Amino acid sequence: MSDILIRAAGQAGHITLNRPSALNALTYDMVRAINEALSTWAYADAVKLIVIDAVGEKAFCAGGDIADLYSTGRAGDFAYGQGFWRDEYRLNARIANYAKPIVTFLQGFTMGGGVGIGCHASDRIVCESSQIAMPECGIGLIPDVGGSMLLAHAPARLGEYFGLTCARMSAGDAILTGFADHFVQAKSWDALKAELMQSGDIEAAKTFYTAPPEANISAHLESISRHFCGESLGDICMNLRTDTSDFAVQSLKKITRNSPLSMASAVEMIHRLRGMQDLERALELEYRYTARAMEHGDFLEGIRAAIIDKDRSPKWKHALDKVPPVDVSFMLRPLGKDKLTFEQESTAMQIGFIGLGNMGAPMAANLATAGHNVRSFDVAGTTANGVTAAPSAVEAATGADVVVTMLPDGAILRSVADEVIPAMHAGAVLLDCSTVDVESARDVAVLCESAGVLALDAPVSGGIGGASGGTLTFMVGGTDEAYTKVLPLFEIMGQKSVHCGASGNGQAAKICNNMILGATMIATCESFALADKLGLDRQKMFDVVSTSSGYSWSMNAYCPAPGVGPTSPADNDYQPGFAAELMLKDLRLSQEAAIAVKADTPMGAMAQALYAQFVEDEDGLGKDFSAMLPKFEQSERP
Ligand code: NAD
Repeated sequence: MSDILIRAAGQAGHITLNRPSALNALTYDMVRAINEALSTWAYADAVKLIVIDAVGEKAFCAGGDIADLYSTGRAGDFAYGQGFWRDEYRLNARIANYAKPIVTFLQGFTMGGGVGIGCHASDRIVCESSQIAMPECGIGLIPDVGGSMLLAHAPARLGEYFGLTCARMSAGDAILTGFADHFVQAKSWDALKAELMQSGDIEAAKTFYTAPPEANISAHLESISRHFCGESLGDICMNLRTDTSDFAVQSLKKITRNSPLSMASAVEMIHRLRGMQDLERALELEYRYTARAMEHGDFLEGIRAAIIDKDRSPKWKHALDKVPPVDVSFMLRPLGKDKLTFEQESTAMQIGFIGLGNMGAPMAANLATAGHNVRSFDVAGTTANGVTAAPSAVEAATGADVVVTMLPDGAILRSVADEVIPAMHAGAVLLDCSTVDVESARDVAVLCESAGVLALDAPVSGGIGGASGGTLTFMVGGTDEAYTKVLPLFEIMGQKSVHCGASGNGQAAKICNNMILGATMIATCESFALADKLGLDRQKMFDVVSTSSGYSWSMNAYCPAPGVGPTSPADNDYQPGFAAELMLKDLRLSQEAAIAVKADTPMGAMAQALYAQFVEDEDGLGKDFSAMLPKFEQSERP
């Protein structure tokens, strides 16, 4: 008997998963067969819609069939798994983008690979027995098959909750979370399928829908929003540990079983994908991880412990909240020529890149690695891997779809813009990622507009590590048209971009953010120095503040005290990181902007004065901006 039944039925194409003894686990052959059927039916006039269902009461599909993945991976053959995932993800995208309605019937377990074929359909039906889950973190993978996208769009941090705990969703939970659409009692399914096949009309299904049972998870939404909102896996664990409620304790217990690297990466992916409606981007990001999962992740060990030896004692590569961000960046780094592509993938862009310093060089290299044609220019003659050096800024910009600038200040940006804009074609984008004054950004945008060129100001946060790891955050000002055009580049160079509004608003967001950062870093450093003088142990101070109302990024993620909190420049003798003089530059920009619009910013002004003293009169030049702590250790109140 075939593992999959494919036939025309009335006005429908009918696909039935037929491996009930294996809970309908998806094999490579089944993926190929579904793909082929959808290709054939896409142009068949007689087929008005597609029904996908499964034999047996226990499961629609409990996941991908991992036996072959494990045996090939153990033998050092990673190409088999990579090929399987590539074709599976392409099928997931095809289901989501299919021009005809696809109705899926999700009884019993729908997990992992089952979500990929069941939960991207246009009409997803659940019943009393439905249990949907993304259990990948439990086997050392990440929520894939487009599940990361569904999790990213779930309300109230349910995505982080279900992704990390691998908990099962009831029918009501699945509808609330966005994994299913309609509840139809199981006893009515045969009649509904018959109606769909006979009429070929999805509207006919409506009379079968009934109110779903209440979501079990509703009672915990407040707790989930509060605990799963952290920036990282470490934050989420820390939040859960502070709560003794049964729900928090159980959630932490579930998390403790799973692969730390998988969960830390899943949080990162969910954050990157939130607010983005693009399944193919999610699948491409997932594939970066899964393509590396056997060789560099916990996948083979996860399968060994869960399925092969069944000892349920996996030896994960990391301890629970000790996953270095650089390991997550490595797993999610672009794959270059091995990137997952889809049939309608757009061709590579022509990019001019001007200013290849500490930040610009790795950003340009990441664009080239992702397959774009990058021509670069820097007055200092610097270049980057995979990039072609041009003899002038004008030659780098000529013919480019996008010209990226990463320059020291507003005056240099203005002079480079004067040079290159006349060489750019109408509709091309000038993307400035430098940190400059708001006025320069807005003046350059006006210049662009008069030449028919689109302009974006997109300063970054994330420093040199973020530039090389492709994990920057972009704060973007400019038109929707320009933002949409450049979005694929932001996703290569960064983990997040926020469109802040019209031209100049990106720079406005950057200087406001850094004004807060400067002030909180000073407050954190002077508090540590005060704690020292009061005889309070620094570790105790960190333990209290990092989980109390004084917490901030400066304390929790970039602690200025050596040996305390996560690794930071303080642990490397205050080598930057983010240099004190760059912080001073940003604080000056914030105060110039504040003066221009008559905003009262006394804390910002004080922060600027303190950093000016530190950099210009003391020994702060060339040190990380957190080296304010040794400064306060030494100084005394007059
Ligand atoms: P950088 O000094 O290392 O790089 C600037 C580059 O621009 C240099 O290589 C320089 O030769 C080149 N340049 C100067 N004038 C030029 C011209 N007319 N034509 C072509 N090239 C020219 O600085 P960076 O650290 O790479 O920072 C770049 C920008 O990013 C700055 O605006 C900075 O404020 C901002 N930024 C830096 C960091 C960081 O951690 N370094 C973090 C966030 C934002």
